[in-house]
Amino acid sequence: MDTQTITDTRIPARIVKPEPRVPPNMPDHAAACAGFRWEQALDQMARLPGGGLNIVHEAVDRHVLAGLGTRDAIRWIGRNGTRRTFRYADLAAETNRFASALRQLGVAPGEGVFVLLGRLPELYVAVLGSLKAGCVVTPLFSAFGPEPIATRCEMGDARLLVTTPELYQRKIAGLRERLPGLKHVLLVGDGPAEGPGLLRWNECVERASPDFTTVATDEDSPSLLHFTSGTTGRPKGAMHVHGAVLAHWATGRFALDLHDEDIFWCTADPGWVTGTSYGIIAPLVCGVTNVVVEAEFDAATWYEVLERERVSVWYTAPTAIRMMMRLGTGPLQGRDLSALRFMASVGEPLNPEAVVWGLEAFGLPFHDNWWQTETGGIMVSNFAAMDIRPGSMGKPLPGITAAIVLRDTEGRVAVVDAPDTQGELALRAPWPSMMRGYLHEEERYRRCFAEGWYLTGDLARRDADGYYWFVGRADDVIKSSGHLIGPFEVESVLIEHPAVAEAGVIGIPDPTAGEVVKAFVALKPGFEPGEALGRELLGHARKRLGAAVAPKSIEFRSNLPKTRSGKIMRRLLKARELGLPEGDLSTLESDGR
Ligand code: AMP
Repeated sequence: MDTQTITDTRIPARIVKPEPRVPPNMPDHAAACAGFRWEQALDQMARLPGGGLNIVHEAVDRHVLAGLGTRDAIRWIGRNGTRRTFRYADLAAETNRFASALRQLGVAPGEGVFVLLGRLPELYVAVLGSLKAGCVVTPLFSAFGPEPIATRCEMGDARLLVTTPELYQRKIAGLRERLPGLKHVLLVGDGPAEGPGLLRWNECVERASPDFTTVATDEDSPSLLHFTSGTTGRPKGAMHVHGAVLAHWATGRFALDLHDEDIFWCTADPGWVTGTSYGIIAPLVCGVTNVVVEAEFDAATWYEVLERERVSVWYTAPTAIRMMMRLGTGPLQGRDLSALRFMASVGEPLNPEAVVWGLEAFGLPFHDNWWQTETGGIMVSNFAAMDIRPGSMGKPLPGITAAIVLRDTEGRVAVVDAPDTQGELALRAPWPSMMRGYLHEEERYRRCFAEGWYLTGDLARRDADGYYWFVGRADDVIKSSGHLIGPFEVESVLIEHPAVAEAGVIGIPDPTAGEVVKAFVALKPGFEPGEALGRELLGHARKRLGAAVAPKSIEFRSNLPKTRSGKIMRRLLKARELGLPEGDLSTLESDGR
Protein backbone atom coordinates (compact mmCIF):
# COMPACT_ATOMS: atom_id res chain seq x y z
CA MET A 1 0.00 0.00 0.00
CA ASP A 2 1.22 3.42 -0.84
CA THR A 3 1.10 6.09 1.83
CA GLN A 4 2.22 9.64 1.69
CA THR A 5 4.45 11.12 4.30
CA ILE A 6 4.94 14.78 4.82
CA THR A 7 8.28 16.21 5.74
CA ASP A 8 8.17 19.78 6.85
CA THR A 9 11.42 21.30 7.85
CA ARG A 10 9.72 23.82 10.13
CA ILE A 11 8.02 21.13 12.19
CA PRO A 12 10.45 19.12 14.26
CA ALA A 13 10.04 15.35 14.12
CA ARG A 14 10.09 15.33 17.92
CA ILE A 15 9.22 17.97 20.43
CA VAL A 16 11.77 18.61 23.10
CA LYS A 17 9.54 19.24 26.06
CA PRO A 18 10.31 21.50 28.96
CA GLU A 19 11.26 19.60 32.10
CA PRO A 20 7.97 18.48 33.73
CA ARG A 21 7.13 20.55 36.81
CA VAL A 22 5.90 17.50 38.67
CA PRO A 23 7.14 13.97 38.10
CA PRO A 24 4.74 12.23 35.68
CA ASN A 25 2.52 9.52 37.15
CA MET A 26 3.86 7.21 34.48
CA PRO A 27 7.61 7.79 34.14
CA ASP A 28 8.19 4.95 31.67
CA HIS A 29 5.49 3.97 29.19
CA ALA A 30 7.03 0.66 28.13
CA ALA A 31 7.58 -0.47 31.70
CA ALA A 32 4.07 0.58 32.69
CA CYS A 33 2.55 -1.36 29.80
CA ALA A 34 4.58 -4.45 30.60
CA GLY A 35 3.52 -4.47 34.23
CA PHE A 36 -0.06 -3.30 33.97
CA ARG A 37 -3.14 -5.39 34.75
CA TRP A 38 -6.64 -3.93 34.99
CA GLU A 39 -6.93 -5.56 38.43
CA GLN A 40 -4.49 -2.88 39.59
CA ALA A 41 -7.00 -0.21 38.63
CA LEU A 42 -9.70 -2.16 40.44
CA ASP A 43 -7.47 -2.22 43.52
CA GLN A 44 -7.49 1.59 43.44
CA MET A 45 -11.27 1.63 43.79
CA ALA A 46 -13.04 1.63 47.14
CA ARG A 47 -15.99 -0.46 45.89
CA LEU A 48 -19.39 -0.22 47.50
CA PRO A 49 -19.69 -1.34 51.11
CA GLY A 50 -21.53 -4.46 49.89
CA GLY A 51 -18.89 -5.13 47.22
CA GLY A 52 -20.45 -3.66 44.04
CA LEU A 53 -18.94 -1.03 41.80
CA ASN A 54 -20.60 2.31 41.11
CA ILE A 55 -18.98 5.14 39.18
CA VAL A 56 -20.24 7.83 41.53
CA HIS A 57 -19.23 6.08 44.70
CA GLU A 58 -15.69 6.08 43.26
CA ALA A 59 -15.94 9.61 41.90
CA VAL A 60 -17.50 11.32 44.90
CA ASP A 61 -18.47 9.46 48.04
CA ARG A 62 -15.29 7.54 48.63
CA HIS A 63 -13.33 10.82 48.76
CA VAL A 64 -15.69 12.09 51.44
CA LEU A 65 -15.26 8.85 53.38
CA ALA A 66 -11.49 9.30 53.04
CA GLY A 67 -11.69 12.72 54.70
CA LEU A 68 -11.46 14.84 51.54
CA GLY A 69 -15.00 16.20 51.74
CA THR A 70 -13.85 19.82 52.00
CA ARG A 71 -11.81 19.70 48.78
CA ASP A 72 -13.39 21.55 45.84
CA ALA A 73 -14.90 19.01 43.48
CA ILE A 74 -16.58 21.27 40.91
CA ARG A 75 -15.97 24.94 40.40
CA TRP A 76 -18.71 26.18 38.16
CA ILE A 77 -18.31 29.48 36.34
CA GLY A 78 -21.53 30.85 34.91
CA ARG A 79 -21.98 33.00 31.86
CA ASN A 80 -22.54 36.20 33.79
CA GLY A 81 -19.60 35.72 36.11
CA THR A 82 -21.59 33.88 38.79
CA ARG A 83 -19.76 31.08 40.49
CA ARG A 84 -20.78 28.04 42.43
CA THR A 85 -18.44 25.67 44.15
CA PHE A 86 -19.30 22.12 45.18
CA ARG A 87 -16.93 20.56 47.63
CA TYR A 88 -16.84 16.76 47.48
CA ALA A 89 -19.14 16.60 50.51
CA ASP A 90 -21.62 19.01 48.86
CA LEU A 91 -21.59 16.98 45.68
CA ALA A 92 -22.23 13.78 47.65
CA ALA A 93 -25.26 15.37 49.32
CA GLU A 94 -26.64 16.97 46.14
CA THR A 95 -26.33 13.80 44.11
CA ASN A 96 -28.00 11.91 46.95
CA ARG A 97 -30.89 14.35 46.79
CA PHE A 98 -31.26 13.80 43.06
CA ALA A 99 -31.16 10.01 43.50
CA SER A 100 -33.73 10.28 46.33
CA ALA A 101 -35.98 12.32 44.05
CA LEU A 102 -35.73 9.67 41.33
CA ARG A 103 -36.69 7.02 43.82
CA GLN A 104 -39.64 9.06 45.10
CA LEU A 105 -40.84 9.45 41.53
CA GLY A 106 -40.60 5.73 40.96
CA VAL A 107 -37.82 5.92 38.36
CA ALA A 108 -36.25 2.49 38.74
CA PRO A 109 -32.64 1.32 38.31
CA GLY A 110 -31.98 0.53 34.66
CA GLU A 111 -34.47 3.13 33.42
CA GLY A 112 -33.43 6.03 31.21
CA VAL A 113 -32.80 9.57 32.45
CA PHE A 114 -32.05 12.21 29.81
CA VAL A 115 -30.51 15.57 30.58
CA LEU A 116 -30.98 18.44 28.16
CA LEU A 117 -29.26 21.41 29.77
CA GLY A 118 -26.49 23.85 29.05
CA ARG A 119 -23.49 23.38 31.32
CA LEU A 120 -25.44 24.29 34.44
CA PRO A 121 -24.59 22.87 37.88
CA GLU A 122 -27.81 20.83 37.77
CA LEU A 123 -26.50 18.95 34.73
CA TYR A 124 -23.62 17.59 36.79
CA VAL A 125 -25.81 16.76 39.77
CA ALA A 126 -28.38 15.02 37.57
CA VAL A 127 -25.85 12.88 35.69
CA LEU A 128 -24.07 11.77 38.85
CA GLY A 129 -27.30 11.37 40.85
CA SER A 130 -28.81 9.19 38.12
CA LEU A 131 -25.80 6.89 38.21
CA LYS A 132 -26.09 6.60 41.99
CA ALA A 133 -29.69 5.57 41.53
CA GLY A 134 -28.62 2.89 39.03
CA CYS A 135 -30.36 4.63 36.13
CA VAL A 136 -28.95 4.87 32.62
CA VAL A 137 -28.18 8.48 31.86
CA THR A 138 -27.83 10.35 28.57
CA PRO A 139 -26.64 13.95 28.47
CA LEU A 140 -27.82 15.63 25.26
CA PHE A 141 -26.48 18.77 23.62
CA SER A 142 -28.81 21.59 24.54
CA ALA A 143 -28.27 22.97 21.05
CA PHE A 144 -30.00 19.94 19.53
CA GLY A 145 -33.22 20.71 17.70
CA PRO A 146 -36.49 18.90 18.46
CA GLU A 147 -35.98 16.07 15.99
CA PRO A 148 -32.64 14.71 17.24
CA ILE A 149 -33.90 15.07 20.81
CA ALA A 150 -37.03 13.09 20.04
CA THR A 151 -35.13 10.38 18.14
CA ARG A 152 -32.73 9.87 21.01
CA CYS A 153 -35.36 9.97 23.76
CA GLU A 154 -37.45 7.48 21.80
CA MET A 155 -34.53 5.15 21.15
CA GLY A 156 -33.33 5.35 24.76
CA ASP A 157 -36.85 5.04 26.20
CA ALA A 158 -36.46 8.13 28.38
CA ARG A 159 -38.43 7.88 31.60
CA LEU A 160 -37.38 11.25 33.03
CA LEU A 161 -35.97 14.32 31.35
CA VAL A 162 -34.18 17.19 33.06
CA THR A 163 -34.34 20.47 31.16
CA THR A 164 -35.26 24.14 31.50
CA PRO A 165 -38.75 25.59 31.00
CA GLU A 166 -37.49 27.49 27.99
CA LEU A 167 -35.93 24.46 26.31
CA TYR A 168 -39.00 22.42 27.15
CA GLN A 169 -41.41 24.86 25.53
CA ARG A 170 -39.22 25.40 22.50
CA LYS A 171 -38.08 21.88 21.76
CA ILE A 172 -40.08 19.23 23.61
CA ALA A 173 -43.63 20.34 24.27
CA GLY A 174 -44.58 19.71 20.63
CA LEU A 175 -43.40 16.13 20.57
CA ARG A 176 -44.68 14.70 23.82
CA GLU A 177 -47.04 12.35 22.01
CA ARG A 178 -44.00 10.67 20.44
CA LEU A 179 -42.66 9.96 23.91
CA PRO A 180 -45.33 8.02 25.77
CA GLY A 181 -42.69 6.50 28.07
CA LEU A 182 -41.58 9.94 29.29
CA LYS A 183 -43.34 10.16 32.64
CA HIS A 184 -41.57 13.09 34.27
CA VAL A 185 -39.92 16.31 33.15
CA LEU A 186 -37.87 18.05 35.79
CA LEU A 187 -37.54 21.77 35.09
CA VAL A 188 -34.50 23.70 36.22
CA GLY A 189 -35.06 27.41 36.85
CA ASP A 190 -38.08 29.64 36.57
CA GLY A 191 -40.31 30.24 33.61
CA PRO A 192 -43.65 29.11 32.27
CA ALA A 193 -44.08 25.62 30.86
CA GLU A 194 -47.11 23.44 30.29
CA GLY A 195 -47.43 19.72 29.77
CA PRO A 196 -47.94 16.39 31.47
CA GLY A 197 -45.60 15.28 34.24
CA LEU A 198 -43.84 18.63 34.70
CA LEU A 199 -42.04 19.07 37.99
CA ARG A 200 -39.81 21.80 39.37
CA TRP A 201 -36.24 21.08 40.47
CA ASN A 202 -36.51 23.33 43.51
CA GLU A 203 -39.61 21.53 44.73
CA CYS A 204 -38.52 18.06 43.86
CA VAL A 205 -34.76 17.79 44.23
CA GLU A 206 -33.94 20.52 46.72
CA ARG A 207 -36.49 19.06 49.13
CA ALA A 208 -35.44 15.44 48.66
CA SER A 209 -33.38 13.63 51.25
CA PRO A 210 -29.60 14.12 51.23
CA ASP A 211 -29.30 10.55 52.44
CA PHE A 212 -29.30 7.83 49.84
CA THR A 213 -27.70 4.43 49.68
CA THR A 214 -26.08 4.10 46.28
CA VAL A 215 -27.69 1.32 44.25
CA ALA A 216 -25.52 -1.78 44.27
CA THR A 217 -24.46 -1.74 40.64
CA ASP A 218 -21.54 -3.86 39.47
CA GLU A 219 -18.97 -3.71 36.70
CA ASP A 220 -21.46 -4.84 34.06
CA SER A 221 -24.39 -2.65 35.09
CA PRO A 222 -25.44 -0.14 32.43
CA SER A 223 -24.41 3.43 33.22
CA LEU A 224 -24.27 5.89 30.31
CA LEU A 225 -25.89 5.86 26.92
CA HIS A 226 -24.11 8.09 24.41
CA PHE A 227 -25.28 8.66 20.88
CA THR A 228 -22.85 8.97 18.02
CA SER A 229 -23.52 9.58 14.34
CA GLY A 230 -22.87 6.91 11.76
CA THR A 231 -22.36 7.51 8.09
CA THR A 232 -25.92 6.43 7.43
CA GLY A 233 -29.08 5.67 9.31
CA ARG A 234 -30.19 6.55 12.80
CA PRO A 235 -27.66 7.62 15.42
CA LYS A 236 -25.96 4.77 17.22
CA GLY A 237 -26.57 4.50 20.95
CA ALA A 238 -23.36 3.27 22.54
CA MET A 239 -24.12 1.60 25.86
CA HIS A 240 -21.58 1.84 28.66
CA VAL A 241 -21.21 0.19 32.07
CA HIS A 242 -20.08 1.12 35.59
CA GLY A 243 -16.86 -0.89 35.13
CA ALA A 244 -15.71 1.92 32.80
CA VAL A 245 -14.63 3.80 35.91
CA LEU A 246 -11.42 1.74 35.91
CA ALA A 247 -10.49 3.26 32.55
CA HIS A 248 -11.53 6.73 33.68
CA TRP A 249 -9.19 6.41 36.61
CA ALA A 250 -6.31 4.96 34.60
CA THR A 251 -6.58 7.50 31.79
CA GLY A 252 -6.98 10.37 34.24
CA ARG A 253 -3.76 9.33 35.95
CA PHE A 254 -1.71 8.21 32.93
CA ALA A 255 -2.95 10.12 29.89
CA LEU A 256 -3.92 13.40 31.59
CA ASP A 257 -1.31 12.96 34.31
CA LEU A 258 -3.72 14.10 37.04
CA HIS A 259 -2.17 14.59 40.46
CA ASP A 260 -4.19 15.14 43.64
CA GLU A 261 -3.58 18.89 43.78
CA ASP A 262 -4.49 19.59 40.15
CA ILE A 263 -7.07 22.07 38.94
CA PHE A 264 -8.40 20.46 35.79
CA TRP A 265 -10.46 21.93 32.98
CA CYS A 266 -11.98 19.93 30.14
CA THR A 267 -13.65 22.30 27.71
CA ALA A 268 -16.00 19.70 26.20
CA ASP A 269 -19.76 19.68 26.66
CA PRO A 270 -21.14 16.53 28.32
CA GLY A 271 -23.39 16.08 25.27
CA TRP A 272 -20.21 14.66 23.71
CA VAL A 273 -18.65 11.65 25.39
CA THR A 274 -15.47 13.61 26.21
CA GLY A 275 -17.50 16.05 28.28
CA THR A 276 -18.83 13.17 30.38
CA SER A 277 -15.83 10.86 30.70
CA TYR A 278 -13.40 13.77 31.21
CA GLY A 279 -15.63 16.75 31.94
CA ILE A 280 -17.28 14.92 34.83
CA ILE A 281 -16.08 11.46 35.77
CA ALA A 282 -12.30 11.09 35.38
CA PRO A 283 -11.25 14.23 37.29
CA LEU A 284 -13.57 13.37 40.16
CA VAL A 285 -12.45 9.74 40.27
CA CYS A 286 -8.92 11.10 40.54
CA GLY A 287 -10.05 13.42 43.34
CA VAL A 288 -8.99 16.69 41.71
CA THR A 289 -10.84 20.00 41.32
CA ASN A 290 -12.86 20.14 38.12
CA VAL A 291 -13.53 23.50 36.49
CA VAL A 292 -16.77 23.83 34.52
CA VAL A 293 -17.35 26.82 32.27
CA GLU A 294 -20.86 27.49 31.09
CA ALA A 295 -19.93 29.86 28.24
CA GLU A 296 -18.97 28.73 24.77
CA PHE A 297 -15.54 29.33 23.26
CA ASP A 298 -14.16 32.80 23.39
CA ALA A 299 -10.41 33.16 23.59
CA ALA A 300 -10.41 36.05 26.06
CA THR A 301 -12.79 34.25 28.44
CA TRP A 302 -10.83 31.03 28.20
CA TYR A 303 -7.50 32.69 28.96
CA GLU A 304 -9.11 34.44 31.87
CA VAL A 305 -10.39 31.13 33.25
CA LEU A 306 -6.97 29.54 32.85
CA GLU A 307 -5.36 32.41 34.71
CA ARG A 308 -7.90 33.08 37.44
CA GLU A 309 -8.63 29.47 38.31
CA ARG A 310 -4.96 28.54 38.19
CA VAL A 311 -5.79 25.64 35.88
CA SER A 312 -2.91 23.16 35.87
CA VAL A 313 -4.18 20.51 33.44
CA TRP A 314 -6.19 21.53 30.42
CA TYR A 315 -7.99 19.22 27.98
CA THR A 316 -9.36 20.80 24.84
CA ALA A 317 -9.91 20.18 21.15
CA PRO A 318 -8.19 21.02 17.85
CA THR A 319 -10.91 23.34 16.56
CA ALA A 320 -10.56 25.53 19.62
CA ILE A 321 -6.80 25.43 19.33
CA ARG A 322 -7.00 26.50 15.70
CA MET A 323 -9.32 29.34 16.68
CA MET A 324 -6.78 30.46 19.24
CA MET A 325 -4.00 30.15 16.69
CA ARG A 326 -5.97 32.38 14.37
CA LEU A 327 -5.82 35.17 16.93
CA GLY A 328 -2.12 34.74 17.53
CA THR A 329 -0.37 35.06 20.86
CA GLY A 330 -1.37 38.71 21.39
CA PRO A 331 -4.36 37.95 23.67
CA LEU A 332 -2.03 35.92 25.90
CA GLN A 333 0.28 38.82 26.61
CA GLY A 334 0.31 39.80 30.26
CA ARG A 335 -1.56 36.68 31.39
CA ASP A 336 -0.11 34.71 34.25
CA LEU A 337 -0.59 31.10 33.18
CA SER A 338 2.19 29.84 35.40
CA ALA A 339 -0.05 27.19 36.97
CA LEU A 340 -0.56 25.45 33.64
CA ARG A 341 1.67 22.38 33.34
CA PHE A 342 -0.03 19.90 30.98
CA MET A 343 -2.20 20.40 27.90
CA ALA A 344 -4.02 17.74 25.93
CA SER A 345 -6.28 17.62 22.90
CA VAL A 346 -8.75 15.14 21.45
CA GLY A 347 -11.52 14.58 19.01
CA GLU A 348 -10.05 15.16 15.60
CA PRO A 349 -6.62 15.30 14.12
CA LEU A 350 -4.36 17.78 15.83
CA ASN A 351 -2.30 19.45 13.16
CA PRO A 352 1.44 19.33 13.82
CA GLU A 353 1.36 23.13 13.56
CA ALA A 354 -0.91 23.25 16.58
CA VAL A 355 1.44 21.19 18.73
CA VAL A 356 4.26 23.56 17.91
CA TRP A 357 2.06 26.61 18.44
CA GLY A 358 1.29 25.36 21.96
CA LEU A 359 4.97 25.63 22.78
CA GLU A 360 5.19 29.11 21.33
CA ALA A 361 2.05 30.40 23.02
CA PHE A 362 1.99 28.55 26.36
CA GLY A 363 5.51 27.17 26.64
CA LEU A 364 3.94 23.71 26.57
CA PRO A 365 3.01 21.38 23.72
CA PHE A 366 -0.48 19.99 23.24
CA HIS A 367 -0.58 16.24 23.85
CA ASP A 368 -2.86 14.68 21.28
CA ASN A 369 -4.85 11.63 22.23
CA TRP A 370 -7.31 9.41 20.45
CA TRP A 371 -10.51 7.64 21.40
CA GLN A 372 -14.14 7.50 20.36
CA THR A 373 -17.62 7.23 21.87
CA GLU A 374 -17.44 3.46 21.60
CA THR A 375 -14.19 3.14 23.55
CA GLY A 376 -15.50 5.11 26.54
CA GLY A 377 -12.09 6.54 27.37
CA ILE A 378 -8.69 7.51 25.97
CA MET A 379 -7.01 4.60 24.19
CA VAL A 380 -3.99 6.09 22.45
CA SER A 381 -2.15 9.06 23.86
CA ASN A 382 0.95 11.19 23.99
CA PHE A 383 1.96 10.72 27.60
CA ALA A 384 3.69 13.24 29.85
CA ALA A 385 6.96 11.33 30.00
CA MET A 386 7.10 10.63 26.28
CA ASP A 387 8.52 12.60 23.37
CA ILE A 388 5.81 14.04 21.18
CA ARG A 389 5.96 13.47 17.46
CA PRO A 390 3.79 16.25 16.09
CA GLY A 391 0.93 14.78 14.10
CA SER A 392 0.96 11.48 15.98
CA MET A 393 -1.78 10.41 18.39
CA GLY A 394 0.82 8.69 20.55
CA LYS A 395 0.91 5.17 21.94
CA PRO A 396 -1.67 2.84 23.51
CA LEU A 397 -2.60 3.18 27.15
CA PRO A 398 -1.25 0.52 29.50
CA GLY A 399 -3.87 -2.25 29.49
CA ILE A 400 -4.82 -1.54 25.87
CA THR A 401 -3.52 -3.57 22.96
CA ALA A 402 -3.79 -1.73 19.67
CA ALA A 403 -2.94 -2.94 16.19
CA ILE A 404 -3.16 -2.02 12.56
CA VAL A 405 -5.25 -4.60 10.75
CA LEU A 406 -6.43 -5.30 7.22
CA ARG A 407 -9.82 -6.84 6.52
CA ASP A 408 -10.47 -9.11 3.58
CA THR A 409 -13.76 -9.36 1.73
CA GLU A 410 -14.93 -12.19 4.02
CA GLY A 411 -14.38 -9.95 7.02
CA ARG A 412 -11.30 -11.80 8.26
CA VAL A 413 -8.65 -9.62 9.84
CA ALA A 414 -4.90 -9.81 9.47
CA VAL A 415 -2.69 -7.94 11.89
CA VAL A 416 -0.04 -5.92 10.10
CA ASP A 417 3.31 -6.00 11.80
CA ALA A 418 5.31 -4.02 9.27
CA PRO A 419 5.71 -0.42 10.38
CA ASP A 420 4.30 2.49 8.40
CA THR A 421 1.63 0.38 6.75
CA GLN A 422 -1.80 1.87 6.55
CA GLY A 423 -4.73 -0.16 7.78
CA GLU A 424 -7.61 -0.01 10.23
CA LEU A 425 -6.93 0.79 13.85
CA ALA A 426 -8.11 -2.11 16.01
CA LEU A 427 -8.18 -2.67 19.77
CA ARG A 428 -8.07 -6.02 21.52
CA ALA A 429 -11.47 -6.57 23.15
CA PRO A 430 -12.55 -6.18 25.85
CA TRP A 431 -11.34 -3.41 28.14
CA PRO A 432 -13.29 -1.86 31.02
CA SER A 433 -14.76 1.15 29.21
CA MET A 434 -15.60 -0.65 25.96
CA MET A 435 -19.19 -0.11 24.88
CA ARG A 436 -21.32 -3.17 25.56
CA GLY A 437 -23.75 -2.70 22.72
CA TYR A 438 -25.43 -0.38 20.28
CA LEU A 439 -28.89 0.15 21.60
CA HIS A 440 -31.41 -2.05 19.73
CA GLU A 441 -28.79 -2.85 17.09
CA GLU A 442 -27.21 -6.15 17.94
CA GLU A 443 -26.04 -6.81 14.39
CA ARG A 444 -24.43 -3.38 13.96
CA TYR A 445 -22.58 -3.96 17.24
CA ARG A 446 -21.48 -7.45 16.20
CA ARG A 447 -20.04 -6.07 12.98
CA CYS A 448 -17.62 -3.91 14.98
CA PHE A 449 -15.75 -7.00 16.14
CA ALA A 450 -13.75 -9.68 14.39
CA GLU A 451 -11.53 -12.37 15.81
CA GLY A 452 -11.28 -10.72 19.20
CA TRP A 453 -10.56 -7.24 17.80
CA TYR A 454 -12.75 -4.17 18.04
CA LEU A 455 -12.53 -2.43 14.67
CA THR A 456 -12.56 1.32 15.09
CA GLY A 457 -13.43 2.39 11.56
CA ASP A 458 -10.40 4.69 11.60
CA LEU A 459 -7.44 4.30 9.31
CA ALA A 460 -4.04 4.75 10.84
CA ARG A 461 -0.48 3.59 10.68
CA ARG A 462 2.11 2.82 13.31
CA ASP A 463 5.72 3.83 12.94
CA ALA A 464 8.71 1.71 13.82
CA ASP A 465 8.77 3.13 17.36
CA GLY A 466 5.16 2.30 18.08
CA TYR A 467 3.62 5.76 17.59
CA TYR A 468 0.19 5.74 15.93
CA TRP A 469 -0.65 8.20 13.16
CA PHE A 470 -4.20 8.98 12.20
CA VAL A 471 -5.03 8.85 8.51
CA GLY A 472 -8.79 9.36 8.43
CA ARG A 473 -12.08 7.65 8.93
CA ALA A 474 -12.23 4.51 6.83
CA ASP A 475 -14.77 6.17 4.59
CA ASP A 476 -12.93 9.49 4.24
CA VAL A 477 -9.78 8.25 2.65
CA ILE A 478 -9.18 9.27 -0.92
CA LYS A 479 -7.69 7.04 -3.56
CA SER A 480 -6.22 8.97 -6.43
CA SER A 481 -4.18 7.40 -9.21
CA GLY A 482 -3.42 4.46 -6.94
CA HIS A 483 -2.27 6.61 -4.06
CA LEU A 484 -4.08 6.46 -0.78
CA ILE A 485 -4.34 10.01 0.44
CA GLY A 486 -5.17 10.91 4.01
CA PRO A 487 -7.30 14.06 4.03
CA PHE A 488 -5.72 15.07 7.32
CA GLU A 489 -2.31 15.29 5.76
CA VAL A 490 -3.59 17.50 2.98
CA GLU A 491 -5.58 19.69 5.39
CA SER A 492 -2.57 20.06 7.66
CA VAL A 493 -0.52 21.40 4.79
CA LEU A 494 -3.23 23.80 3.70
CA ILE A 495 -3.59 25.19 7.20
CA GLU A 496 0.10 25.90 7.37
CA HIS A 497 -0.52 28.64 4.86
CA PRO A 498 -0.87 31.99 6.62
CA ALA A 499 -4.21 32.73 4.92
CA VAL A 500 -5.94 29.49 5.90
CA ALA A 501 -8.03 29.12 9.04
CA GLU A 502 -9.66 25.77 8.32
CA ALA A 503 -9.57 23.20 5.59
CA GLY A 504 -11.71 20.20 4.70
CA VAL A 505 -10.63 17.82 1.98
CA ILE A 506 -12.66 15.24 0.10
CA GLY A 507 -12.27 12.96 -2.87
CA ILE A 508 -14.44 13.62 -5.88
CA PRO A 509 -14.91 11.06 -8.64
CA ASP A 510 -12.62 11.39 -11.63
CA PRO A 511 -12.81 9.21 -14.72
CA THR A 512 -9.05 8.87 -14.97
CA ALA A 513 -7.70 8.95 -11.48
CA GLY A 514 -10.61 7.32 -9.67
CA GLU A 515 -10.84 10.25 -7.34
CA VAL A 516 -9.14 13.60 -7.19
CA VAL A 517 -8.69 15.75 -4.18
CA LYS A 518 -10.82 18.81 -3.67
CA ALA A 519 -10.25 21.25 -0.83
CA PHE A 520 -12.68 23.56 0.92
CA VAL A 521 -11.00 26.36 2.75
CA ALA A 522 -12.05 29.06 5.22
CA LEU A 523 -9.76 32.05 5.43
CA LYS A 524 -8.42 33.99 8.38
CA PRO A 525 -9.69 37.52 8.88
CA GLY A 526 -7.92 39.96 6.59
CA PHE A 527 -7.68 37.57 3.62
CA GLU A 528 -10.00 37.69 0.64
CA PRO A 529 -10.92 34.72 -1.52
CA GLY A 530 -9.90 35.07 -5.11
CA GLU A 531 -8.34 33.34 -8.05
CA ALA A 532 -4.84 34.45 -7.20
CA LEU A 533 -5.03 33.15 -3.64
CA GLY A 534 -6.59 29.89 -4.88
CA ARG A 535 -3.66 29.39 -7.23
CA GLU A 536 -1.23 30.23 -4.48
CA LEU A 537 -2.76 27.66 -2.13
CA LEU A 538 -2.79 24.96 -4.78
CA GLY A 539 0.82 25.77 -5.53
CA HIS A 540 1.74 25.61 -1.86
CA ALA A 541 0.02 22.22 -1.51
CA ARG A 542 1.61 20.85 -4.66
CA LYS A 543 4.96 21.97 -3.48
CA ARG A 544 4.59 20.40 -0.09
CA LEU A 545 2.72 17.23 -1.03
CA GLY A 546 3.60 16.47 -4.61
CA ALA A 547 1.18 16.71 -7.52
CA ALA A 548 -0.31 13.25 -6.95
CA VAL A 549 -1.54 14.15 -3.50
CA ALA A 550 -2.29 17.86 -3.71
CA PRO A 551 -5.81 19.14 -4.28
CA LYS A 552 -6.77 19.70 -7.88
CA SER A 553 -9.31 22.34 -7.01
CA ILE A 554 -10.15 24.60 -4.18
CA GLU A 555 -13.30 26.31 -3.04
CA PHE A 556 -13.53 29.10 -0.50
CA ARG A 557 -16.12 29.04 2.23
CA SER A 558 -16.78 31.44 5.08
CA ASN A 559 -16.71 28.42 7.38
CA LEU A 560 -16.89 24.64 7.14
CA PRO A 561 -19.69 22.35 8.34
CA LYS A 562 -18.79 21.01 11.76
CA THR A 563 -20.25 18.75 14.41
CA ARG A 564 -20.93 19.99 17.93
CA SER A 565 -17.67 18.42 18.96
CA GLY A 566 -15.78 20.37 16.33
CA LYS A 567 -15.10 17.79 13.68
CA ILE A 568 -15.22 19.03 10.12
CA MET A 569 -17.96 17.02 8.43
CA ARG A 570 -16.18 15.91 5.29
CA ARG A 571 -19.01 13.57 4.40
CA LEU A 572 -21.36 16.55 4.31
CA LEU A 573 -18.98 18.53 2.12
CA LYS A 574 -18.89 15.51 -0.13
CA ALA A 575 -22.63 14.90 -0.15
CA ARG A 576 -23.28 18.52 -1.05
CA GLU A 577 -20.59 18.54 -3.69
CA LEU A 578 -21.96 15.42 -5.32
CA GLY A 579 -25.65 16.10 -4.74
CA LEU A 580 -26.00 13.00 -2.54
CA PRO A 581 -28.32 12.64 0.49
CA GLU A 582 -26.90 14.58 3.43
CA GLY A 583 -27.55 11.77 5.95
CA ASP A 584 -27.88 12.28 9.69
CA LEU A 585 -27.27 15.96 10.47
CA SER A 586 -28.25 15.86 14.12
CA THR A 587 -24.75 16.65 15.34
CA LEU A 588 -24.22 19.47 12.86
CA GLU A 589 -23.14 22.64 14.61
CA SER A 590 -22.18 25.11 11.93
CA ASP A 591 -23.66 24.64 8.53
CA GLY A 592 -20.73 25.90 6.54
CA ARG A 593 -22.73 26.96 3.53
P1 AMP B 1 -16.46 10.63 18.72
O1 AMP B 1 -16.99 9.27 18.96
O2 AMP B 1 -17.49 11.63 18.31
O3 AMP B 1 -15.61 11.12 19.84
O4 AMP B 1 -15.51 10.54 17.45
C1 AMP B 1 -14.49 9.61 17.42
C2 AMP B 1 -13.71 9.81 16.18
O5 AMP B 1 -13.07 11.08 16.18
C3 AMP B 1 -12.60 8.82 16.01
O6 AMP B 1 -13.04 7.58 15.52
C4 AMP B 1 -11.69 9.57 15.06
O7 AMP B 1 -12.16 9.46 13.74
C5 AMP B 1 -11.83 11.00 15.55
N1 AMP B 1 -10.77 11.30 16.51
C6 AMP B 1 -10.83 11.32 17.85
N2 AMP B 1 -9.66 11.67 18.38
C7 AMP B 1 -8.82 11.87 17.36
C8 AMP B 1 -7.44 12.24 17.25
N3 AMP B 1 -6.70 12.51 18.31
N4 AMP B 1 -6.91 12.32 16.01
C9 AMP B 1 -7.66 12.07 14.91
N5 AMP B 1 -8.95 11.73 14.96
C10 AMP B 1 -9.52 11.63 16.17
